[in-house]
Amino acid sequence: MNAGSSTSTTGQAPHRADNARRDLSNANVREDLAEKGRCGLVHLPTGRTCLLPLRHHGPCEFHRPQEAEDVAKGS
Ligand SMILES: [Zn+2]
Repeated sequence: MNAGSSTSTTGQAPHRADNARRDLSNANVREDLAEKGRCGLVHLPTGRTCLLPLRHHGPCEFHRPQEAEDVAKGS
């Protein structure tokens, strides 16, 4: 006789923001570099930019802004 006591779904909504790259939540990505197929992640404290291929494995490798500009220009 417990017909009225069904606790249907508990109110725990799954996280749905996981489609985004969570590793980017605290940084900027240069879209001009992303279009070049580069990671393009900017390390904000230093202003350096990762020039490794998009979705590369391992940690980012940050280069000076001048190097990033060269890549962005397609040279
Ligand atoms: Zn990177």
